[in-house]
Amino acid sequence: MLEVKNLHASVEGVRILKGINFTVNPGEIHAIMGPNGSGKSTFAKVLAGHPAYTVTKGDILYKGESIVEEEPEDRARQGIFLAFQYPVEVPGVTNSAFLRQSYNSVVEARGGERMDPLEFDDFVREKLKVVDMPAAKLDRSVNVGFSGGEKKRNEILQMAVLDPSLALLDETDSGLDIDALRTVANGINTLHREDNAVVLVTHYQRLLNYITPDFVHVMVNGQIVKSGTKELALELEERGYDWIINESKAS
Ligand code: ADP
Ligand code: MG
Ligand code: MG
Repeated sequence: MLEVKNLHASVEGVRILKGINFTVNPGEIHAIMGPNGSGKSTFAKVLAGHPAYTVTKGDILYKGESIVEEEPEDRARQGIFLAFQYPVEVPGVTNSAFLRQSYNSVVEARGGERMDPLEFDDFVREKLKVVDMPAAKLDRSVNVGFSGGEKKRNEILQMAVLDPSLALLDETDSGLDIDALRTVANGINTLHREDNAVVLVTHYQRLLNYITPDFVHVMVNGQIVKSGTKELALELEERGYDWIINESKAS
């Protein structure tokens, strides 16, 4: 699904990612943890093709082909989805229109049929159940006036509509109360299948009480310094990040 080889990336001339190796197979859930500022969001955005970031070295293979030169919308059409840490508001564009256009663009690239507004309305109403969102949110401008939790649910609604092969979820758990966290986690679990993969970027272990990752990686200073299983996340919860930072400095 995804093979990242010795990836280096910069933003505004500052080196952020310093040699990341990372492999994801279909059916897997990976958690990327690490202290603030370690480069987790940068990594997710570089994978999705965010134009502000420059890959200076290394390669990203998706389904066996290099995508480093590809535009973010082409990556999206091929099934890569990024849920933002800070979802953007889009005044003047209704949520339903936005979701339908995104859906049609992606489904067309897969050789499927576009949906007209009526068909899409039935389709998206089913998807609302995944995140327990009221239909009224469809007629509102994208994320405008949404609470933090509603924005995060809306990201997972986008994921439900687009049905990505590779979902990159950046701190989808942050700012959620326990009920919203459960709802969002259930949504992600519902959408996870043996033929897709999920990469969860998270600062806290909390989300991993609800979603069981196959692998946990720790990013420090633009590198993955340790990988393990769910137990590693529990250890981080207990001991914090300092010991791992010290360990990575020593090696
Ligand atoms: P994390 O998600 O792990 O908290 P980020 O990827 O957001 O970390 O940030 C990693 C580092 O890159 C930080 O030092 C941050 O200040 C820097 N950085 C991120 N985005 C930009 C940007 N657009 N311009 C300048 N520096 C940035
Ligand atoms: Mg699995
Ligand atoms: Mg971040």
